[in-house]
Amino acid sequence: MADKVFCKWCGSSYNSVSSMSGYSCSKNPDGKNHEIYDGPERNKYYCKWCGSSYNSLSSMSGYSCNKNPHGKNHEPYEGSEKSSYTCKYCGSSYNSLSSMSGYSCNKNPHGKNHEPAR
Ligand SMILES: [Zn+2]
Ligand SMILES: [Zn+2]
Ligand SMILES: [Zn+2]
Repeated sequence: MADKVFCKWCGSSYNSVSSMSGYSCSKNPDGKNHEIYDGPERNKYYCKWCGSSYNSLSSMSGYSCNKNPHGKNHEPYEGSEKSSYTCKYCGSSYNSLSSMSGYSCNKNPHGKNHEPAR
């Protein structure tokens, strides 16, 4: 980790958070600039909304997500990989992000689906 930071929306890499924040991001749904991916480096990255997996953040950014309530693109899950994932709004747990994405949440104020806690 340490020596590179990645944008969670487009997968661009920069040497520091401060250099990243000075550039605009074409994929960020609600802002203009890149936003740091604040999770571990992985072999696979999972979308927190639909559970799709990609082998890099930049490949993830090339596809649209039909579950993300905030924007059109996938958003990487930044927490650790777990044997079960818990919704941060209602506390329901599922054994994968993709199975969680198949159910609606009656407590999420921002959208219809569960959102995994980290
Ligand atoms: Zn970006
Ligand atoms: Zn997705
Ligand atoms: Zn929920």
